[in-house]
Amino acid sequence: MKNLKLAAARPDLLRSVIDVNGVKVGQEFVVIAGPCSVETEKQTVETAIAVKKAGAKMLRGGAFKPRTSPYAFQGLGLKGLKILDKARRETGLPIVTEVVDTRDVSWVGEYADVLQIGARNMQNFSLLREVGKSGKPILLKRGMYSTLEEWLNCAEYILAEGNPNVILCERGIRTFETYTRNTLDLSMVPAVHGESHLPIFIDPSHGTGILSMIEPMSLAALAAGADGLEIEVHIDPPSALSDKDQQLTVPQFELLMKKLAQAREFFGQLHAGFAGESERPGAEQRLEAQSDLPTAFADAVD
Ligand code: PEP
Ligand code: MN
Repeated sequence: MKNLKLAAARPDLLRSVIDVNGVKVGQEFVVIAGPCSVETEKQTVETAIAVKKAGAKMLRGGAFKPRTSPYAFQGLGLKGLKILDKARRETGLPIVTEVVDTRDVSWVGEYADVLQIGARNMQNFSLLREVGKSGKPILLKRGMYSTLEEWLNCAEYILAEGNPNVILCERGIRTFETYTRNTLDLSMVPAVHGESHLPIFIDPSHGTGILSMIEPMSLAALAAGADGLEIEVHIDPPSALSDKDQQLTVPQFELLMKKLAQAREFFGQLHAGFAGESERPGAEQRLEAQSDLPTAFADAVD
């Protein structure tokens, strides 16, 4: 793919491994779960405890919400970040939360373990440069009107600032189909794995917007070889201040996690048998290769 120096697949580094407080993204299948928005301490902490018990490895929750209407709930801001911090202290789960403004990157980064760049900001190049400078792990969602090449170039903006910790997340694109909220493009899993060393997650919540589709799309993402999922879960979806129709209840999430665990046994073996997998560097070697990245960056960014 044209112009990709750092995000492109490399023969010595087929998959990057991104260490988020000991969670090895790209090496283990990781589920990020939590509410769309941080609303109250009770809602966030109870959801965090429940998703951790069910097997989630990171907690998501928006304190800054990019909403279609300026009158819709915009998030709690700093208060929300403090609630997320409390949830992290209670559960040990790393926090994934969105940053929407270049002026907020450094202080939001003091609370977040992973900074999320939302679909609407995927091509906000000054924001990408700023989160690149932060050095924090970044979850870069695919813009709803963006091609794979545009998306990977946005990852390149972050990498070019010397930050190798980029996780991609497909969350559906706009097509002529309006039955689903977006059209979840699962073909991006093998496409990203073919073109890049970066891990790719699937967000079936925003990807479909339909509760009954979250389980089948999650299982399909696993089957396709995704590195993880980002899923919205709420202790009481009908009372949610945003995306109430697509958030799983805790029992629904628990059931999904059980099915994913079963599917992982099967697909883990299947993926291990994929052509070429045996010749790929193992996770340990990949981590070693990654330690060369700063040098590779220096060579590539001229
Ligand atoms: C979100 O994950 O909270 C979100 C707003 O998603 P997206 O940017 O994909 O719409
Ligand atoms: Mn949402």
